[in-house]
Amino acid sequence: YSGLGFKPLVQDRLSQTTVQDIMLPPVSVDQETTVQDAITSLFMYDIGTLYIVDEAKNLIGVVSRKDLLRSVSMGNMQTSPVAVVMTRMPNIFVAYPEMPVVQAAKSISRHQVDSLPVMKEQGSRQIIGKVSKTALVNLLIDLTDEE
Ligand code: ADP
Repeated sequence: YSGLGFKPLVQDRLSQTTVQDIMLPPVSVDQETTVQDAITSLFMYDIGTLYIVDEAKNLIGVVSRKDLLRSVSMGNMQTSPVAVVMTRMPNIFVAYPEMPVVQAAKSISRHQVDSLPVMKEQGSRQIIGKVSKTALVNLLIDLTDEE
C-alpha cells in the first residue's frame, strides 16, 4: 500500500501533466479553402475544428462544426471561403506547451469551446498542436487506469 489514496495520486499526476503531453497535431488550411472542402476535411481527419493559417503558417482563424453548419444553412457552400465564417485572431483562446492541463481545461470550459490551438510560445503565432476535450477525457482515463 503506497500510503497515498486514490485522489492524491491522480491529483499529483494531473498537476504534473502539461499541454505538450497530450496535444495532437493540428490540421491547418489556408483562408481560401471553401466551406465545402473544410467540411470534407473534418470527415477525412475525424476532427471538429480546422485551423486557418496564412502563407507564413501563422494562425489567423479557427473554424468549427457550428461555423460550417451556420454557413451551409445560409446557403453558402461550394465557393464561400472559410475566411468568411471563421473566428479570427485576436479572439482566439490559445494554450502553450508548458501550460498545466488543468489550466487548459479551465479555459476550454470557461470559454465554451471544444479545443485550444497550442502556440509555440507566448507571443508566437505559430501553431504547433491542439488540446481538445477528447484529449482531456483520454488523459482522465489514462490516469485512473494507472491506479
Ligand atoms: P462546435 O462548433 O463544433 O461546437 P466549438 O464549441 O469549439 O465547436 O466552437 C464554437 C465557436 O467558438 C465557433 O464559432 C468557433 O469558431 C469558436 N472557437 C472554437 N475554438 C475556439 C478558440 N480556441 N478560441 C475562440 N473561439 C473558438
